[in-house]
Amino acid sequence: MHTLISLLLAFQPDPNWWPGSSSFEIAVSAVLTQNTSWNNVSKAMERLAKSGINNWEQILKAKDLETIINPAGFYRRKATTLRELAMLMQKDPIPSREELLNVKGIGPETADSILLYALGKPEMVVDSYTYRVLRNCGLVNGPFNYEQIKQLLITTLGQDSTNVDILKRLHAAFVEVAKNYCKKKPHCVECPLNKKEGLPKESPPFNC
Ligand code: SF4
Repeated sequence: MHTLISLLLAFQPDPNWWPGSSSFEIAVSAVLTQNTSWNNVSKAMERLAKSGINNWEQILKAKDLETIINPAGFYRRKATTLRELAMLMQKDPIPSREELLNVKGIGPETADSILLYALGKPEMVVDSYTYRVLRNCGLVNGPFNYEQIKQLLITTLGQDSTNVDILKRLHAAFVEVAKNYCKKKPHCVECPLNKKEGLPKESPPFNC
């Protein structure tokens, strides 16, 4: 596990991986990205910017928020979440994880994404990509369990688990490796986590 984390961090040296020029943009996109592609999130973010919505107050004022964020899908539910999040952020610009989890439509992945990438708090973000890489590498088994995987990574990171840049890079690396190499059919030969040259394509046991 320690070796895997070192390889992941070497693969992703840049902590500024999540697109967005403000904590507002990053937090909004963390909600919009639920169950949709980043391409659709980008379209919705562009429409928000064109509508002059660039802070939480504007989210609460926008009567046509559902229409504006329509490209991101699930627009009614996401608009409700954004309005609730806006009310929370106006009350407390740096909310706790518990407060974020109390917002309708915000689960652990979205809460941790907002805390880490938008607010710079040391939270490990876990998602289906994290699980796929760890499972394919034989480091976890059984069904996906967010808190268990998060705790496993935090324990392995040790002191580094409070380093925001390392946490940002690690989550980014899991996503990029899973999207580009560790797919449903893993492409181990090209994968930067493959420690053994010449590993036969798609032949378990994997060597990561
Ligand atoms: S070496 Fe193979 S199984 Fe391991 S992370 Fe890379 S693609 Fe996935």
